[in-house]
Amino acid sequence: MTTPRATIGFIGLGNMGAPMAANLVKAGHTVTGYDLVPAALQALTAAGGKTATSAAEAAKGADVVITMLPEGAQVREVWLHQGGLIEAVKDAKPLLIDCSTIDVESARTVTAAAEAAGLEMLDAPVSGGTIGAQNATLTFMVGGAEKSFARGKSVLEAMGKNIFHAGGPGAGQSVKICNNMMAAINVVGVSEGFLLAQKLGLDWSKVHEICSTATSSSWALNTYCPAPGPAPAAPSNRDYAPGFMTRLMVKDVRLSQAAAEATGVPTPLAALALTMYEAAMAAGYGAKDFSVVFRWLAQQQRPARGSD
Ligand code: NAD
Repeated sequence: MTTPRATIGFIGLGNMGAPMAANLVKAGHTVTGYDLVPAALQALTAAGGKTATSAAEAAKGADVVITMLPEGAQVREVWLHQGGLIEAVKDAKPLLIDCSTIDVESARTVTAAAEAAGLEMLDAPVSGGTIGAQNATLTFMVGGAEKSFARGKSVLEAMGKNIFHAGGPGAGQSVKICNNMMAAINVVGVSEGFLLAQKLGLDWSKVHEICSTATSSSWALNTYCPAPGPAPAAPSNRDYAPGFMTRLMVKDVRLSQAAAEATGVPTPLAALALTMYEAAMAAGYGAKDFSVVFRWLAQQQRPARGSD
C-alpha cells in the first residue's frame, strides 16, 4: 500500500521527536517542526524538514499535527493554553496526535477539548526507545475513536512497525503505563534472582539458560537481562547506556501509581519497585538504562550471616 503524502506539523524535537520527524520526511511527508530549544530544530533541517518559530506556525495548513513532549504539563500547555494549538487549528480540522507518555487525565482532558472544538485526536504513546525511533520500528499504543485511528494509521506507520488500537481516548496512555509498571517490577525481580544466584555460587549464563525456559522466563530475563553477560543485546553489557533511562521509568511508574491511587487498585510491588528506581536515580543513575537497578541493588548487599 502506498502512503498518501501528508503535510505534518511536529512539536517537540527531542531524543524521540527528532528521529520520528526525520522518518516522516523520509516517507515523503512534508514536515514542519517546532521546539522551544533552537538547537533541536537543526536535526530536522538536516533531515530535509522545515522549521517554524512557534507551534501554531508549524501546524498551519497541516493535515496532521503531532506532539512529542516530556510530560502532561507541557502537553496541556501546548494544546490548551496561551494561544493553544487547538484554538489555532480548529478551522483547518487536522488530525491531532500526541505521542508523549503522559498521565491519562491530561490525555483525556486535551482530547475532550479537541472534540469540543470539532477536532479528532489520538493519544499514541510509543515503546521502543531512541533506537526504535531512529529505525522507525516503534510500537504505537493508540487511544481514540476507530475512525480517527484509521485516519492516522498510515502516518504512524512511517515511524513504527506495530500500530495497535487500544480503545477510546486515554487507552493508549493507559496501556503504556501498565506495560511500563509491569516491566519495572519484572526487572527488579530478575535482578534479585540473579544476585541471589551469584551468592549461591551459580554462573549467570547457566541461570539464564535454565530460567529462560522455566517459569521465570520473561522479556526482562530472556532479552533484557539486567545482570551483564547472558543476554548480548541488553544495556547491562554496555555499562547500562540507555535504552530507556531510569528517570523516565521513574516518571512512568509515578504515573501508574497516580492512576492506581485514583482507581483504588492495590499495586504494592510497583510502589516498592518505584522506591528502588528513585534510590538508583538519587545515587546518580538517572541517565542510565533502568536495568541499572541491578547494579544499585548489588551495592546494597549486606555481609553474609552464614548459618548458625
Ligand atoms: P526530550 O526531553 O528529549 O524531548 C522533549 C522535547 O520537547 C525537548 O526538545 C523540549 O525542548 C521540547 N519541549 C518542551 N516543552 C516544549 C514546548 N512548550 N514547546 C515546544 N517544545 C517543547 O524527551 P524524549 O526522550 O524525546 O521523550 C519525549 C516523550 O516520549 C516523553 O514523554 C517520554 O517519556 C516518551 N518516551 C521516551 C522514550 C525514550 O527512550 N527517550 C521512549 C518511549 C517514550
